[in-house]
Amino acid sequence: MRQVIIIGSGPAGYTAAIYAARAGLAPLVIASSVEAGGELMNTTDVENYPGFPEGVQGPDLMMSFEAQAERFGAEILLDDVTSVELEGPVKKVTLGSGEVVEALAVIVATGSAYRKLGLADEERLTGRGVSWCATCDGFFFKEKTIAVVGGGDSAMEEATFLTRFADKVYVIYRGDTLRASLTMQQRAFDNEKIEFIWNSQVTAINGEESVTGITVHNSATGEDSTLEVQGLFIAIGSDPRTALVSGQIDLSDDGTIAVEGRTSKTSLTGVFAAGDVTDPTYRQAVTAAGTGCVAALDAEHYLATLPAETIAQTQGPAAPEEKELVTS
Ligand code: NAP
Repeated sequence: MRQVIIIGSGPAGYTAAIYAARAGLAPLVIASSVEAGGELMNTTDVENYPGFPEGVQGPDLMMSFEAQAERFGAEILLDDVTSVELEGPVKKVTLGSGEVVEALAVIVATGSAYRKLGLADEERLTGRGVSWCATCDGFFFKEKTIAVVGGGDSAMEEATFLTRFADKVYVIYRGDTLRASLTMQQRAFDNEKIEFIWNSQVTAINGEESVTGITVHNSATGEDSTLEVQGLFIAIGSDPRTALVSGQIDLSDDGTIAVEGRTSKTSLTGVFAAGDVTDPTYRQAVTAAGTGCVAALDAEHYLATLPAETIAQTQGPAAPEEKELVTS
């Protein structure tokens, strides 16, 4: 049995792991078998993470998080969690491999999942022109025409990035005032390859083997039109990933995991949550990292209230190798 298991490996999960490992809790991080590192693995330049005046590549940042957690004794497992039993003093976490791991505390940092448009052919044409990840798939669209859906930072970032490859990028936005930050908007406005299509929704994705076009409805004029594009990148936000825990811990009305005030405490004793899965508002790497720290500290305080003989039944703790860096 572990003292603490952390589910998720984005900025929240890895920051929780760094803090928990430095506290000698020998955390087990279940990082996912396909998406270890979270959403920043699909990002290019991260310009607003403090400490990197020149910016940093998302994957590089996440690999640094991981290395830092491992340095202090966190164990990182590239597997998925298929189910959890969080009630009672011993939490049970079932892995994709079928193995069940137990812990006295669990930190849920499962992040969020990309939203879909909900169109008939979206699933069928995924990987055949429909994508949620410009950094993963942009390369396949050299000299092509692409549409990006959305009006937030992600859509601006994806559209701008895709102009490295595509000849033309349409941004299709359902409103007329973008939600994205002004800097990201301006960068997109300044890019000659980007054309905005306002007040519009994609209503159909066309193509047999791969995307050949989209149908767009303009809500201001009531007109439908067809755009010839070979790619459709969907950047319309994401929803908290709560499927694992819903029914066991309380969710807020907005669908995020409910936490007590500024803490990471959920409705179940010994279960903490951090990062985008708890955050309907800010959803930045740095805020996720901050709440990951909070969750590790809350877990540490909780474990300190348990009888010594209970803690003695757990594996570890491994002594941190780099004691000289422990300053707080
Ligand atoms: P977001 O801010 O929630 O924006 C989603 C966009 O998609 C909105 O413009 C929304 O339209 C539109 N939308 C939602 N559902 C739609 C639908 N069914 N059909 C058509 N359009 C739809 O999501 P995000 O852009 O992924 O950003 C999430 C968070 O990450 C934000 O806090 C953002 O600041 C942050 N982020 C930061 C960076 C960066 O700083 N480098 C990069 C990416 C993301 P409405 O505007 O009409 O609601």
